Amino acid sequence: MDEVEALILMNPLDCGSCSNCCQSSPGIYILEELDDDPSLYEGYLDYKDGQPILKTKANGDCIFLDRENGCTAYDIRPNPCRSYDCRRDYMKWVAEPRAERRALLKRGFLKKHVQQEGRKRLKSILSDGSTALPSD
Ligand code: SF4
Ligand code: SF4
Repeated sequence: MDEVEALILMNPLDCGSCSNCCQSSPGIYILEELDDDPSLYEGYLDYKDGQPILKTKANGDCIFLDRENGCTAYDIRPNPCRSYDCRRDYMKWVAEPRAERRALLKRGFLKKHVQQEGRKRLKSILSDGSTALPSD
């Protein structure tokens, strides 16, 4: 395990009032293979490539996001929401060649504001300077 991953494990993510990854979302899949139950989201699902996915609002926000109060389905949020950590996403993204990083953003697979949140939160746990954070 590398040093950054060890630090992430020692410092559980506290999203607080941040909801960056729920905004302009490319869509949250309901993963039955990971015990997500689509019947919990009846009326709030679209289908992409035959897979259930949470609907999004006209502005791209997740259907369950209230920008003032956060996730309105927090207790039943699906697996991808429970397991997502923008700090790990940032580390994966920044390890790609620059052209590939730009292409991922351009194609909408990743969002710049989410990557920036991941970087900011990584910096806060690396503040002792023991590990250099890769530059984006
Ligand atoms: S962007 Fe990061 S800190 Fe913000 S809600 Fe998503 S996972 Fe949590
Ligand atoms: S279900 Fe909740 S945590 Fe998941 S993307 Fe929607 S608002 Fe965010």
